[in-house]
Amino acid sequence: MIKQGKIENVLHDVFGFRGLRPEQEPVIERVMEKKDSLVLMPTGGGKSLCYQLPALCLPGTTIVISPLIALMKDQVDALRLNGIKAAYMNSSLDSQQENEVLRQLKSGELKLLYIAPERLFSNTGGLMYLLLELDISLFAIDEAHCISQWGHDFRPDYVNLGQLKMKFPKVPMIALTATADALTQKDILALLGMDNPIVFLNSFDRANIRYTVKSKTDYFDKLLDFLKANKNESGIIYCLSRKSTEALANDLRAEGIQALAYNAGMSADERIKNQDLFIKDEVKIIVATIAFGMGIDKSNVRFVVHVDLPKNLEGYYQETGRAGRDGLDSEALLFYGAGDYFKLSRFCEVEGNPEQTEVLLGKLRHMVNYADSMICRRKVLLNYFDEAHEGDCQNCDVCLTERSLVDATMDAQKFMSTIARLERAYGMGHIVDILRASKSEKITAEQRALSTYGIGNDISKVNWMSYAREMVQRGLLTQDVGRFPTLSLNAESWQVLKGMKKVMLTEREETVERTKAGGNHDEKLFELLRAERLVLAKEIGLPAFAVLSDKSLVEMATFFPMKTEDLLLINGFGKVKAEKYGTVFLEAIQSYAESQGLKTRMDEMSGSQRRSSGKNKKKKTALSTTAKESLTLWLLSKDIQDVAEKRGLNSTTVHGHLAEVVANGKLSVFEFIDEATLKAIRPVIIRNKGKGLRVVRDELGEKYTYEDLRMATAHIISEQSKKGA
Ligand code: ADP
Ligand code: ZN
Repeated sequence: MIKQGKIENVLHDVFGFRGLRPEQEPVIERVMEKKDSLVLMPTGGGKSLCYQLPALCLPGTTIVISPLIALMKDQVDALRLNGIKAAYMNSSLDSQQENEVLRQLKSGELKLLYIAPERLFSNTGGLMYLLLELDISLFAIDEAHCISQWGHDFRPDYVNLGQLKMKFPKVPMIALTATADALTQKDILALLGMDNPIVFLNSFDRANIRYTVKSKTDYFDKLLDFLKANKNESGIIYCLSRKSTEALANDLRAEGIQALAYNAGMSADERIKNQDLFIKDEVKIIVATIAFGMGIDKSNVRFVVHVDLPKNLEGYYQETGRAGRDGLDSEALLFYGAGDYFKLSRFCEVEGNPEQTEVLLGKLRHMVNYADSMICRRKVLLNYFDEAHEGDCQNCDVCLTERSLVDATMDAQKFMSTIARLERAYGMGHIVDILRASKSEKITAEQRALSTYGIGNDISKVNWMSYAREMVQRGLLTQDVGRFPTLSLNAESWQVLKGMKKVMLTEREETVERTKAGGNHDEKLFELLRAERLVLAKEIGLPAFAVLSDKSLVEMATFFPMKTEDLLLINGFGKVKAEKYGTVFLEAIQSYAESQGLKTRMDEMSGSQRRSSGKNKKKKTALSTTAKESLTLWLLSKDIQDVAEKRGLNSTTVHGHLAEVVANGKLSVFEFIDEATLKAIRPVIIRNKGKGLRVVRDELGEKYTYEDLRMATAHIISEQSKKGA
């Protein structure tokens, strides 16, 4: 049985976290029971804690196997900042350093040792045999997909790890990865020889990433606007070609935006230098080809922009996944123009291999489907990975944009009658070219003579293409799925042509207003703290985000901790970190608060925000007398204004009383708002939990009143206490 108390204490005191994430809890419990498991969690999900926390709670030393030498040092440094005895062993150490690590290992003082697999099995060292004589608490195999040839990153050294279970049958093992399909998972379990393992499969959904697609027209101006809205934030901009990374980085610098290029054509020195500046937050933006980002563990990347369409959704998911590893709101923005498809489809041609060509083209079409989607983008993305997403996400541009349907019957008829007049089947682009009177040689003389030639000039090519795709999506046209996706008319189309069916299509507009992500923290103070962190990070020689996460900065800039004990309530401050490094932050906050005449707001930290070590106390408060009185009167007239007059209170107060009643579960929320309103508001409130109604209101706009928001909140509270009861 897991000793809850100890785990919680270590979590609070050492790591400075309020609680385990729901996905971590069962995993850690399993490890503490000394049983084997395989954990699939998306990037940023918090895999490390799944073995770091048990490492501290179990007697002995935990051995962490990792293929990424560059990351080992960062991880170990971060652990040491929290006062944890940890070390690493790989080819970067000289023999003196190595001897020191060996000494620490033998003396049993290390709680965690990170090690490269080749070091474990080298002929000379035979570190594995040394481990047999020591007290080993756990083996953690990071990036476990590297063991499988089915994975995308096979490492022969990993295959040796199969020996561990044979040599150490009693030591539990945990394997972790962010990318493993079913075949790879099976391979991992078999090759590691795990004993009755449980596989923890977690959703691929990255809820904190907001997906947005914009048309590529004038993309540079749009990009500048986006970067201005995200000033001071770290981000990656992906381009298709090496040349364009350098051109775009230059153009951005000309606009006064700090940006560096990164591509495989640059010298290794320059690449490392640019990457390093980015990781250390000294340059905010990297313009890169997809060569950039592998093995980069920077948690505060706030946005990932693609200025060219990626070739497939696997790549897109992986690249956008580099945003928001710290769990804070982040953006994935894609610029998409119809031309991208044609450009990329040429890359899909694999000479002499039509099957492979077809596979690649199919993947590209899925990518276009995403970019052109009129339904929730998260749904499209997760569906592609065989995961269902219930309801719309309310955190992608499709969900967040109110698009109305317009009557496009005439346009549809123009499009369809062009198809009807052609002697054979053509693809979308050709039909649009005819409608827009293209002078291209592909358009034959007969086609130029058609009555529909040039009747669609009022609509841009991009919009025509996307109308056409929507018509296909809605079943109004049939698209061939073969090598050449040609269009043909179906029964529905004929109904439209005969005027028996109206066509409603989504209005095409660039209406996506970017609502700034983030809560109600003090921006200026945040910047000051960020600067302090950078200075401190340089002193310690670590990347800034490894010293303290952005999340911690946001909390400090929200609640203004002024004393060390306040700091212990802030996410990410364990006792050691707070005492050793807390002062600079506290001083910055104190002097800022003084200059602005502000006070601490620690008392505004809600129960769930506080890292209180007590169990979550479920309050089931009785109704206040005054609320009861309002309720009685309201039941008679069902008129808030009337109650307010009778009681000599203002109506907001009475409304507050009734919200209290709703929160208590004694009155239905639908007395005050309708279902549609609740449905619209609910996800926004839940997503912004703890940030106050102001933020919710800013996000939803004028459409809903504060009263609506308050009632919806009350309803959510009642639901939650029902669940907890
Ligand atoms: P992964 O290895 O799965 O990509 P990490 O282990 O690097 O993810 O964790 C991602 C981020 O989440 C880190 O900044 C980490 O400190 C933070 N984190 C992990 N678990 C918790 C938790 N229980 N509470 C708060 N923050 C956490
Ligand atoms: Zn959505």
